[in-house]
Amino acid sequence: MAEEKFVKLSDISGDAVDLNIKVKILSLSSKDMETSKGKTTYHYGLIGDDTGVISYTAWSLPSTVREKDVYEIRRCYSKTYKDKVRVYFDQKTEFKFLTEDIEVKRNYRYYSIKDLNIRDKFVTVEGLVKDERIREYEKDGERRKIFQYILKDQTGTIGVSSFGLQLKPGKAVRLEGARLDEFNGYYRLNISDKTGVEYITLNIGDEPDYVYIKDIKNPVGGIKVSGFVISMGDKAGLITRCRECKKRIDDIRCPDHPDLLPEYDVFAYFTLDDGTDYIQVNAGYDAIKSISGIEESYLKNESRPPLKREVKDKLENALLHNAIYVKGNVRENTQGLNLRATEIGHIDKNALSEIRKIQEEEFI
Ligand SMILES: [Zn+2]
Repeated sequence: MAEEKFVKLSDISGDAVDLNIKVKILSLSSKDMETSKGKTTYHYGLIGDDTGVISYTAWSLPSTVREKDVYEIRRCYSKTYKDKVRVYFDQKTEFKFLTEDIEVKRNYRYYSIKDLNIRDKFVTVEGLVKDERIREYEKDGERRKIFQYILKDQTGTIGVSSFGLQLKPGKAVRLEGARLDEFNGYYRLNISDKTGVEYITLNIGDEPDYVYIKDIKNPVGGIKVSGFVISMGDKAGLITRCRECKKRIDDIRCPDHPDLLPEYDVFAYFTLDDGTDYIQVNAGYDAIKSISGIEESYLKNESRPPLKREVKDKLENALLHNAIYVKGNVRENTQGLNLRATEIGHIDKNALSEIRKIQEEEFI
């Protein structure tokens, strides 16, 4: 009988049959599926060895197989789909339980912040640590701390929550195995005791790189785009808010604070198109103040209150059909992705030629 050969997970590529592997079952989930023969259950999860981690699907699995156990697995096979290798077990596959433990090398894919995708839950990212906030809470009668940061790379920003471990604001860090989730329409990274945290040297410019609108796929922050404003929302313009609770009021007075006169505010929403795609942009007064030329003194002038028509004209003159850049945070809601602007400006000649250069490289 020929000597059995075991392959390492990192050596599995493409489509292969009759593989023998020695792995730890890192996770084990099940799913029901309707087939022509009725309902059937299959299992899936992750296996790992000292060279890496791979996803598996088990069309058939002995009921004794448990998470965190180590097995010699004979006669499994692999398939590759969209550059991702997956290992499959079926009724021919044999499992032999081993009492030893094995070291698993976790490898997390590296992402630029703008390319993060919730389908890949554990990731490696690098960036500059900014804006520390510390929150305290109580659990089991103990005071605990959550440290919150913004992580910034050349493509965007993302919020980071760290339970217990404090990072160093102003330093660049590499996070290996940070967990990605989505909260309130925004992506966020979480650091746990399993996340590798390493301080590194990183050169990040003050300005983020321009990204194409077609490449904005997920709700991350600190994105910079440019393009033409192709249409403006009807309701954009002058609005009134309660002086006290800041709620928007469409009537003359706030129901909770009827004695107070309202104050004026401005917002805009418009469609920005860069030739690759378009995106809806929402902008509050802070973001449109400088490009629209609407001064605070104009909004606060009690002897001559601002006029809806004037404000709308100023916004349209500043934005409609003009080439602008927008910096902001991408948020996901029921209508899809939109961009919450933090800064808007007209495009200067240098930026315009930079965009043209990128477009030529990309499309020509
Ligand atoms: Zn109010």
